[in-house]
Amino acid sequence: MEWTGGCMCGAIRYEVSGEPFWVGHCHCESCRHHTGAPVVTFVGFKKDQVAFTKGERQIYNSSPGVGRAFCRQCGTPLTWEGESNLPERGEILEFYISTFDDPNAFMPTNHVWYSEKIAWFDVADDLPRYRGFDFDSDLCRKGPVVTERPG
Ligand SMILES: [Zn+2]
Ligand SMILES: [Zn+2]
Repeated sequence: MEWTGGCMCGAIRYEVSGEPFWVGHCHCESCRHHTGAPVVTFVGFKKDQVAFTKGERQIYNSSPGVGRAFCRQCGTPLTWEGESNLPERGEILEFYISTFDDPNAFMPTNHVWYSEKIAWFDVADDLPRYRGFDFDSDLCRKGPVVTERPG
């Protein structure tokens, strides 16, 4: 399979091939800061599955070894990139799902860093929610926290 995507202004375009190793929601504070969104949804690929076909992304190092790419022209946040904590994955690029031309091509499988979730935010899916990463932390719960609204 092949998918394409890019930034809002079209200066940056990319192409990915094969299956992603992860599609999921991240609630961590760093991702929220990079995007301005209450939660972000990622589609993760190994570096050799990814090709940038147009433009040059700007990379901001949010911590040592971690790059967060964006378009310097329109500001669209594009990726988290760096060395995976799982050695078999090696270097990875995780794309913000809404930068794909067809975000419906992917289906999220879980939530990570649920411990940092914004209190008023949750979504009505039955997916597992992990305290930290899905591969090395506790399951917090399945499904959303149901809050009663007054009135
Ligand atoms: Zn752009
Ligand atoms: Zn995150």
